[in-house]
Amino acid sequence: MLPGPALAAPTEADWAAAVAAVRRLPADARVLLVCHVNPDGDALGSMLGFGLGLRRLGVRRLQATFPGPPELPEPLGWLPGLDLLVPSVEAYPDPDLVVCFDAASASRLGELVDRLDTAGDALVLDHHASNTGFGRLHLVDPGAAATSVVAEELLARLGVSLDAEIATCLYVALTTDTGSFRFEATTPAVHQLAARLLATGIRPGDISRRVFDTRPFGAVRLFGEVLGRAVLDPTAAAGRGLVWTYATLDDLVRHHQRPYVLESLIDSVRCTAEADVACVLKQVGSEEWAVSLRSKGAVDVSRVAMALGGGGHRFAAGFTGHGDAQEVLGRIRVEVDAALIAS
Ligand code: AMP
Ligand code: MN
Ligand code: MN
Repeated sequence: MLPGPALAAPTEADWAAAVAAVRRLPADARVLLVCHVNPDGDALGSMLGFGLGLRRLGVRRLQATFPGPPELPEPLGWLPGLDLLVPSVEAYPDPDLVVCFDAASASRLGELVDRLDTAGDALVLDHHASNTGFGRLHLVDPGAAATSVVAEELLARLGVSLDAEIATCLYVALTTDTGSFRFEATTPAVHQLAARLLATGIRPGDISRRVFDTRPFGAVRLFGEVLGRAVLDPTAAAGRGLVWTYATLDDLVRHHQRPYVLESLIDSVRCTAEADVACVLKQVGSEEWAVSLRSKGAVDVSRVAMALGGGGHRFAAGFTGHGDAQEVLGRIRVEVDAALIAS
């Protein structure tokens, strides 16, 4: 599947419709917040930050959830608002409003996808250019650095002022998706948002250390092993180069690690100067891999991911691959060549 026409930022009418959907909720309305499977800092942070804001507005029957096992990566297991979380099996079956965060397609909602039909209304907050347009109300801004940018604007339009708890959640989301303000999406508006968040008194050093710079020693050893088997293929992508490695379930078991520790592995691989494209295959089943793709600019990896059943952004994307690692890599190589950006 090729990307459709370029998505435009939300219009004033889109914002007004979203505000109205929240404002018209009766006092006893049940609101369900859902973020994508295997939540990252943006998914969880934008969802919990928005949830805390709804609570300030007086929404009392409020749940937040995500598909799959109700376990959080340790680096996110301290966020304010975690008391809003319920396991997906306990989520309201027919909420008055469902709000989705950071999910580019309905499939990213896993077993919670039926809420799009059973809920009274469905509002989608996202920033993926590959967003499929699921749900009824859309606040999807492909120019936003993170879903939390969209969430903060909706909170402001609802009249919720930022406090330190909301700001902590939104700051985690913003720093996660901008690579701590290193990526291209780091616009003046991103820094202005960061300034508003920091003005609540939150401590960026503490937050960054907890989220990005704290891992068990076993994860350090695991990285050593997995990085040691990285392969550089300089001929891939018409000579732009591809670097890749993989981590198996057995690697995790041997080092007594949970899968989340592998999320940042791609950052250690993508720094390879000799490769435009970086790829990490993380085994999730006997013949199943969660694949992370990154590009430095010569390849649109969201096209690669979409062609293989996933999605994402131009320079950061992912999909679920089936087969052995070499087979999955072979398919990636073919699609990478097709996704070269004309220069
Ligand atoms: P990751 O490599 O997991 O950090 O993901 C990078 C980007 O790709 C994120 O924007 C994700 O939303 C997107 N992505 C990752 N995996 C998938 C998938 N299986 N389906 C759709 N999008 C994905
Ligand atoms: Mn995400
Ligand atoms: Mn995001």
